[in-house]
Amino acid sequence: MQFPLTDEQRLIQNTAREFADSEIAPVADQHNREGKFPAALVKRMGELGFLGMLVPEAYGGSGIGNFGLVVALEEVNRVCASTGVTMSVQNSLVCAPVVHWGSEAIKKKYLPKLASGEALGAYALSEPGSGSDAAALVTSAVKDGDSYVLNGTKNFITSGAEADFVIAMVRTDPAHKTRGITAFVVESDWKGFHVGKKEDKMGLRSSSTVQIVFEDLRVPASNILGELGSGFKSRCTRSTADASASRPRRSVSRRRVSTRPSSTPKSAKPSTSKSENSRPSNSSSPTWRPSSRRRDCWCTTPRA
Ligand SMILES: Cc1cc2nc3c(=O)[nH]c(=O)nc-3n(C[C@H](O)[C@H](O)[C@H](O)COP(=O)(O)OP(=O)(O)OC[C@H]3O[C@@H](n4cnc5c(N)ncnc54)[C@H](O)[C@@H]3O)c2cc1C
Repeated sequence: MQFPLTDEQRLIQNTAREFADSEIAPVADQHNREGKFPAALVKRMGELGFLGMLVPEAYGGSGIGNFGLVVALEEVNRVCASTGVTMSVQNSLVCAPVVHWGSEAIKKKYLPKLASGEALGAYALSEPGSGSDAAALVTSAVKDGDSYVLNGTKNFITSGAEADFVIAMVRTDPAHKTRGITAFVVESDWKGFHVGKKEDKMGLRSSSTVQIVFEDLRVPASNILGELGSGFKSRCTRSTADASASRPRRSVSRRRVSTRPSSTPKSAKPSTSKSENSRPSNSSSPTWRPSSRRRDCWCTTPRA
């Protein structure tokens, strides 16, 4: 099936391709071998507008939408799936739920920082005893005045060690399974937020995956995302959206594996396959400037 790109989507593709080839590819293998989180690349993705692609312009993003996000993600994933998953989580699992379910105050407080890359987000659903069966989660939130007190452990949280804000899915009503789950925006510098064990993974090694522990963590009730008890519904919707945003990772991973011989040097140049999405970048191409209205610094010219 063909998806013809608009002029703007083509620009996004060229911009992401140039960024991926000139800035991610030279360091990707080393970062992955060392399990080093690519903080500088994440900052660059923020500058380029790649972390707020689902965030409306009014809150500091480009509001370009899922298709543009997927086009950019495909280019990033082509050279480094770890950087790609960090970008994907920030857009689809963190920014998007805040856009869809956040109150005006929450949107104003968190989205501009997330979209610019000034802050990194994570999404905490899985637990030691609940993975596929997400509705079995037991991390609790008990109301106490104008706040909720959270206790529990979250497992396998992407960007959890670096995150400034975490969307935490927790149980507010033990009597109901799916309707007893609520999403909260939690800030990682609040008392009772602990980063636990880091996973020593076989792949995606420069994307950090950690355990997060909430210990009597007090969260204002105003930080509830959506309505009390609506967390599972929003989780299902976002998971569907993220599935489409993570598909480029799987497809390019397959393509990369099939087109790159194992003898290729570690600092491999981009694939020269005839596939359109594997073309090397053309640095003289025009670049995407998603927000000349807002900022004038968004360009992909590699910095010296
Ligand atoms: C790299 C990485 C990053 C992650 N990032 C995040 C994150 O940012 N946030 C987050 O919340 N979670 C994250 N996760 C967790 C991920 O969402 C879970 O691993 C996933 O939901 C599966 O849960 P599980 O690992 O407990 O496997 P399980 O639920 O134990 O499932 C194991 C296997 O059994 C199968 N299975 C399960 N139940 C049944 C059944 N009833 N019938 C038949 N087969 C079944 C499953 O399909 C699967 O193949 C991450 C995981 C990884 C590996």
